[in-house]
Amino acid sequence: MVTGWGARAEATFGWQPKQALGLPLVELIVPPAYRAAHNAGLENYRRTGQARVLGSVLEVTALHRDGHELPVELRISPAARMDGKTVFIAFVLDITDRKQRQRELEEALADAREARVAMDGFVNMIVHELRQPLGVTLGYSDVLLTRGGLSTDAERAVQAMMTSTTSALVLVEDILLAARLGAGGLKPELAETDIPEAAASAAERARPAASIRGGSIAVETPPRAPLLARVDQKFLARILDNLVTNSLKYSVDAPHVCISVQGGAWIEVMVADQGKGIPEDMREKIFDRFVRVHDRGTVPGSGLGLYVSRQLAELQGASLTLRSSSPGKGSVFALRLPPM
Ligand code: ADP
Repeated sequence: MVTGWGARAEATFGWQPKQALGLPLVELIVPPAYRAAHNAGLENYRRTGQARVLGSVLEVTALHRDGHELPVELRISPAARMDGKTVFIAFVLDITDRKQRQRELEEALADAREARVAMDGFVNMIVHELRQPLGVTLGYSDVLLTRGGLSTDAERAVQAMMTSTTSALVLVEDILLAARLGAGGLKPELAETDIPEAAASAAERARPAASIRGGSIAVETPPRAPLLARVDQKFLARILDNLVTNSLKYSVDAPHVCISVQGGAWIEVMVADQGKGIPEDMREKIFDRFVRVHDRGTVPGSGLGLYVSRQLAELQGASLTLRSSSPGKGSVFALRLPPM
């Protein structure tokens, strides 16, 4: 029986105190479907002195005077004895708005997940469709160059074709990698690796692109090779390729790039160029997705390379930073690999 009915109770359930006082609570605010369970709970309390609802916070459905049901948070204090009767005090909070917001949030989350899955599928499809023709172009260019007999002009043209096809392939791979990184499905396969050797291979891969522009790639390693680290070799190659390609892309004239390796508590691989440099306020931002500083219209790129590279570094316990840069003079990127 209701013995007290506050202003909030009136606002929430529509009954005025004078209407509610003295009536069985079950008829006022418990929806018909739950009345039997409510009465059984009370009956059980009378017999055993135990009730699941006492002292805990529950989310239940309540009934308004006008007949509509509403979600409420219900907190019933432990029972007290007063004048030979058992008294319960309940605090009820209307959580219609909270529930609505929660539902909206869950729907938005489900939509976002669905969109992400659709987007990933789309990216995968595009990437696979692009990889194939680019691979064919690269393969036949290689055949033409290896076979020889081309005029100097034709050879230069095929080399230019290979360079731009390679950068398109790198771009496509970066898009695929960024999508996989976003989905969290990429795990490094760590293997003992000689870092100076990996640096030399990266230089070898980039040499044609450097020489076509009259530039050079130097490798400086300590005399006491090998320097071993446990890394994912594909990730490492991708990071170094991205750094070296950037050094070539963002040079002013003939690009001169130096990849140096240093041992110590950490193994450091530094990629230094004498290119355009990066303005002070962009030095951290360049590691974000789609951020590009230079030559957006003329230099091919997506702004994904450094984002992907840093993520790949961190996945294997390494770090990638811009060590120094001065506009017009060049930049040094540093990859620090954990010791064995
Ligand atoms: P992308 O090269 O595809 O634009 P990146 O994520 O690799 O994307 O690089 C982001 C931006 O950082 C580039 O657009 C460029 O403006 C700048 N940047 C990266 N590397 C260098 C570099 N070695 N020298 C000058 N600027 C660079």
